[in-house]
Amino acid sequence: MTAPVSPAPRLERLPELLEQSAALHRHLCPRQVLGARTGLMAGEWLGLEFPRTDKRVLVFVETDGCFADGVSVASGCWLGRRTLRLVDHGKVAATFVDTRTGRAVRISPRPDLRSRVREGRPEGQKRWDAYMAAYQTWPDEALFNVQPVRLTLDLAALISVAGVRTVCDRCREEIINGREITSSGETLCRDCAGERYWDPA
Ligand SMILES: [Zn+2]
Ligand SMILES: [Zn+2]
Repeated sequence: MTAPVSPAPRLERLPELLEQSAALHRHLCPRQVLGARTGLMAGEWLGLEFPRTDKRVLVFVETDGCFADGVSVASGCWLGRRTLRLVDHGKVAATFVDTRTGRAVRISPRPDLRSRVREGRPEGQKRWDAYMAAYQTWPDEALFNVQPVRLTLDLAALISVAGVRTVCDRCREEIINGREITSSGETLCRDCAGERYWDPA
């Protein structure tokens, strides 16, 4: 496939987004570009102004790293704003949810994307440069699979209510955002309920 050059109007915002993303990393790389393109596309699909400055959209990124930051700058959804969650499945993909309507879309690179970029690149062009160029200029449909989805988790419970706090009956540590587990009358943090990811050293 040759590289079609038909950037949608919203791609005019891409350079600025990539500058922001690169500033976070001190470098720009193909996965940040994919992340930013994913975010731009999701905004259009949901019919919402991106990047968000509110909490209306929730994003599930399926890997950490550069891709996630590209998604954040384009969508305005960040871990620190509680509008981005990591579902660490090691996949360059993200699902964007309009929490007001429940509409959701999962966007992932087409499985043959990298091989198409490699095969279509000009003689002598480095792979990295070919990815960078293609991801910035190819149209969405050449880059991504887009799938409307329905969440199988409890969105309200996940978002929870701001300001909710309690204390674990065993370790006495504070638990916020409704993450406690109640079992036989006891309020427990997830550590004490058996989900601890560390041991005392
Ligand atoms: Zn990177
Ligand atoms: Zn505890």
